[in-house]
Amino acid sequence: MTRKILVTSALPYANGSIHLGHLVEYIQTDIWVRFQKMRGNTCHYVCADDTHGTPIMLRAEKEGITPEQLIDRVWHEHKADFDGFHVEFDNYYSTNSKETRHYADDIYFKLKQRGLIEVRAVEQFYDPVKEMFLPDRFIKGECPKCHAKDQYGDNCESCGTTYTPTELIHPYSAVSGAEPVHKSSDHYFFKLSDARCRDFLKSWITPPHVQNEAANKLNEWLESGLSDWDISRDAPYFGFEIPDAPGKFYYVWLDAPIGYMGSFKKLCADKGMDFDEYWKPDSKTELYHFIGKDILYFHALFWPAELQHAGYRTPTSVFAHGFLTVNGEKMSKSRGTFITADSYLKHGLNPEHLRYYYAAKLNGTMEDIDLNFEDFVAKVNSDLVGKYINIASRCAGFISKYFDGKLAFTDAGSLLDGAIASGHTVSASFESRDYGRALRDIMAIADRTNGEIAIAAPWTLARDETQREALHNICSRALHGFYVLSILLRPVMPALTSRIATELFDMKRDFKWDDLSVLPTCVNAYRHLMTRVDQKQIDAMIEANKQTMASTVDSHSPVRHAEAQQRAIAPIAETISIDDFGKVDLRVARIVNAEHVEGAEKLLKLTLDIGEEKPRTVFAGIKSVYDPEKLKGRMTVMVANLAPRKMKFGLSEGMVLAASGESPGLFILSPDDGAQPGMRIK
Ligand SMILES: [Zn+2]
Repeated sequence: MTRKILVTSALPYANGSIHLGHLVEYIQTDIWVRFQKMRGNTCHYVCADDTHGTPIMLRAEKEGITPEQLIDRVWHEHKADFDGFHVEFDNYYSTNSKETRHYADDIYFKLKQRGLIEVRAVEQFYDPVKEMFLPDRFIKGECPKCHAKDQYGDNCESCGTTYTPTELIHPYSAVSGAEPVHKSSDHYFFKLSDARCRDFLKSWITPPHVQNEAANKLNEWLESGLSDWDISRDAPYFGFEIPDAPGKFYYVWLDAPIGYMGSFKKLCADKGMDFDEYWKPDSKTELYHFIGKDILYFHALFWPAELQHAGYRTPTSVFAHGFLTVNGEKMSKSRGTFITADSYLKHGLNPEHLRYYYAAKLNGTMEDIDLNFEDFVAKVNSDLVGKYINIASRCAGFISKYFDGKLAFTDAGSLLDGAIASGHTVSASFESRDYGRALRDIMAIADRTNGEIAIAAPWTLARDETQREALHNICSRALHGFYVLSILLRPVMPALTSRIATELFDMKRDFKWDDLSVLPTCVNAYRHLMTRVDQKQIDAMIEANKQTMASTVDSHSPVRHAEAQQRAIAPIAETISIDDFGKVDLRVARIVNAEHVEGAEKLLKLTLDIGEEKPRTVFAGIKSVYDPEKLKGRMTVMVANLAPRKMKFGLSEGMVLAASGESPGLFILSPDDGAQPGMRIK
């Protein structure tokens, strides 16, 4: 009996590019889906861009376009990235769809009817200039612990401390720069703490619904008590307005995952399928969510409870995976290892090499996986080119040259038995998402085949006309081995194996799992199939990424605190005239002396020469980043006509300019060589 399966990957947020970290999930899901389809099961793979929220609204505003225009552009970028890596969705949709809105409303009203929605006043930071409530990540200020400036409302990037926005010193809105005020507003909550949710989840969070390791963690969370989930945000907000609550919008948790349903609903409409068959409470179909371990709480507690109490089926399993590290470390912009899907492809690297490498590392657990580029180059070249492709490139030519492309087998029965047995073993590994084990078994077949070729030495046999039968036999056996390998590898390398099926084995279609139980009959002339990966390509990509990556984005999975992903530059200030600018007298200054100030936590006392009779004294808040000894003698830029300011430590006669941005750090300016103290900057 064929199974009916619906599979999802987490929704990427429409405010950033797909990178190699994201691809761990999409590639592993795609492999599983392709495997199911090859087996003859009915399997649908849906996903969508997660499009709502404050970051999208503000970014669109900054770009001078509508949120709809922004999410449309990003959708096309994401889709191109997925296509480039052969991630084949049956529907890739948007959460900003009528279908998603329909199910969001439906679930909201059903939960409300069952008394699982509660309204509560919440006090939050409010931007009085922009007239909006501020998510934590849009509030910045001074770290209460290390006093680094311009830190986000949830944690300090300088010292790593986490805190709430209310603990920040001198908080300001990252949107307008205004000082935020406390303001209370009604928020809607899903009562996850309700006994009905707890009782349901207690029995639900067990294998196979979740992995063993996940069940332990989830039970800990359950034991320590579940809290209610805030599911609303106030206008202005880009999203779905709650029908019976004007000015309130569904927050991410009540629309992003419902995008799974919205996307599937659209697919059903396009293909004439029955949505309810897959989502009704007693459905006989299977539902799987592939997710990063960071959104486990949400997908294995909140989501099943929400579905259960809104009258829908719950997931068959939630498959959580770990994160990607690159060369043993967290992906990093400065090291050039924060690599986008687009950058990988643009540097001419083969997407199926990455699919193969990820598959070799994945074992169905929540462990992190490492992309070690040196190992990547060695493994791809050794396994794929050296062992796998080499079989066909060494043997197919003899079949074409001496045997008119025809294959001949002397022991068909045992070859078929072997192929079918391998199929069983490998399919069990794919089914349990232990792709690493599947590929080890597959490569063992390649090793055996290469061993046979080495012993028979077809290149020697070919020189002796009396050995034609032996030559025909070994080359046919080798190509059968190659055929079996290609079938088994198809979920991992769909494009390559598609060429092998149609071009080499002259089939009119792609491989199916059942093809293991028949023998190939002929081959066409061998054509080049795969090029080795060169370390130079990797080096060039990493170098390019060091240079082009400007902003910081989380390297983890999608849907995680979608709001958190916004890291825009500070807004550009109001336009001024050249005359306004002319009022600021900027001068080149030589730092004659720099010293610590007794009792000052942040300030250095600078003595600045700008060509006047007497040097000026300026107190600058750069102590956390500059050693005074290293500043002495260097040139910088100061505002020379700023009104002198009386400070606790003395009079400050101007201001030194420094740059600061999203990442920690403060950078004073330097003029080019040749500039002299006192020169005016205009
Ligand atoms: Zn700090």
